[in-house]
Amino acid sequence: MLNVTRDSVGDLFVSFVCEVEQRVNRETVDEVLNKTENCSNIVGYDFGLNSDRFLVASNGEDVSTPLFFKESEAKLIELDKSLSSKVKGSNNYKKAKIKRAKLQRHIANQRSNFQWNLAKEQVLKADVHCFETLDLNEMKERRGGFRFGKKVSDIAMADFLAKLTQQAEKYGKYVVKVPRYFPSTQLCGKCGFRNTELKGQLQIRHWVCPNCGAEHDRDFNAAINIRNKGIEMFKEGKFEKKRKPRRSCSFKRKAGKAKIEEVRAE
Ligand SMILES: [Zn+2]
Repeated sequence: MLNVTRDSVGDLFVSFVCEVEQRVNRETVDEVLNKTENCSNIVGYDFGLNSDRFLVASNGEDVSTPLFFKESEAKLIELDKSLSSKVKGSNNYKKAKIKRAKLQRHIANQRSNFQWNLAKEQVLKADVHCFETLDLNEMKERRGGFRFGKKVSDIAMADFLAKLTQQAEKYGKYVVKVPRYFPSTQLCGKCGFRNTELKGQLQIRHWVCPNCGAEHDRDFNAAINIRNKGIEMFKEGKFEKKRKPRRSCSFKRKAGKAKIEEVRAE
């Protein structure tokens, strides 16, 4: 099927889906489990919802949040003002509208590139990738407030997870999605004690386990718990299943130009 769409800037996009043979074979569960000592090829991740982190990995990796929207916010406000001062329907209004759409598209492209690069980088570093399933709509509603909602959409974790899952398939790796209600932030990653005082307390970034005295960074500890739960699930065969071999290709053609430029082919 061929789809032709025009974005808000006015550029045309042609996209189609085709079937291709996938030659990547995944190692078996046993092969992956016996490959390294202490399963160091299995990594857990926690998204930094209320901090300046995008994600933290159980292997100690710490990725900062790129706030592309925030960086371009002043410019976007300026363009909004310019747009509202124009007479609706006039040529100047149309020009201002396109300018604004171009900046929005630029932000979206920056975000997408960052996510693709990070997803590939992480996928190549380990064999099994464990994440907590997130319900972003619920989070936006529950936390309320413009700032938090905007940040959630800015870092777009669900988009990243989808990209990482796709890359994992491409390179023969596994993705485990730990249930959403698993108390990853409340458990002590060292002794397993559940500290219910942390429930809903997003402002607490560091804590000491009342049971074993271990000092925890909230996100890093959560990543360790997600990894531990992920290993358990992986052993039980509870990982994301391979999808049917399918390859989606998207081509962009700018209006008025004959050259067709490939945007993304995964
Ligand atoms: Zn403890």
